[in-house]
Amino acid sequence: MKFDVTILGANSAKFAHGRHQTSQLVCHNEHLFLLDCGEGTQLQLMRYRLKMSRINQIFITHLHGDHFLGLLGLILTLHLNGRTQRLEVFGPPGLDEILAVQLRWSETALSFPLIVTPVPAGPSRTVWENEHLEVLTIPLEHRIPCNGYFFREKQGKRRLVASAIDTYGLRPQHIAMVRRGEDVYADTGELLIDHRHVTLPPHPRRSYAFCSDTRLLPQNAALLQGADLLYHEATFLHEQQDRAAATFHTTARQAAEFATLAQARRLIIGHFSSRYRELAPLLDEARTYFASTHLAEEGVTFDIPYPDQEADASSAAAAPWAEPVQA
Ligand SMILES: [Zn+2]
Ligand SMILES: [Zn+2]
Repeated sequence: MKFDVTILGANSAKFAHGRHQTSQLVCHNEHLFLLDCGEGTQLQLMRYRLKMSRINQIFITHLHGDHFLGLLGLILTLHLNGRTQRLEVFGPPGLDEILAVQLRWSETALSFPLIVTPVPAGPSRTVWENEHLEVLTIPLEHRIPCNGYFFREKQGKRRLVASAIDTYGLRPQHIAMVRRGEDVYADTGELLIDHRHVTLPPHPRRSYAFCSDTRLLPQNAALLQGADLLYHEATFLHEQQDRAAATFHTTARQAAEFATLAQARRLIIGHFSSRYRELAPLLDEARTYFASTHLAEEGVTFDIPYPDQEADASSAAAAPWAEPVQA
């Protein structure tokens, strides 16, 4: 089951050095989710030929402009494209009012249902789920109310060994039973099929944690323990730790120390201050404390493989859900 994250922007505050403000596209089992929507996000989606029409849920962390000012433009483009599918937006209280005012005064009746759900700051809770995945909030501390989001797979069923269907003559009802971990018995009570002989254990649950913007919060390590992929803001180098603390941001060293505390498998750092034209010093600093650190570089897709599969980061253009190249 596919699970990956494509970086659309990771600069803080404003567009600088060719870097856009925060936005990411999460793909899980062919469902597309947008995380934050900085200015220009829809242009980034087009640039990397990603299907904005297939996004059905958008999660906004907080109401600083670098995290949501692209939202209305994206919504209006979907409207002009004739979208009819409902769009769900989750974000801080007030976001619903901001969007409603703009739509009311431009006398825009959207072509699709727009459902905006306020997500107040507070303890972690589930805000969205389907059969395979749940999205929980991550309590963050910033200058204004802010939630990160934690994408966590639900426990799957046992995996059927394909050759067992013929070998054991499995019927659909047998398959459902053994995948639930149940054995199959004859009416006489005789054991016909031991589920352990025809199935493998379920895949381990995978997860992706998105933490931006925030000061360092070691207490979140328990919630995010063992995350397969962790994005943590790293606005400054540690020499600016006083400025980071004053502005409720994190340094590269602190992000790496948090990844260690949470025992994450891999770390992506982003939300870079515009004071840094070159990002190598931020990466070097983080890697000193957490070796498996990557920069949030635009257009890069980070795969989240099952732990027994090889980790990989590949180009977004290779993603099968990308738009075909227009002639
Ligand atoms: Zn920000
Ligand atoms: Zn902010």
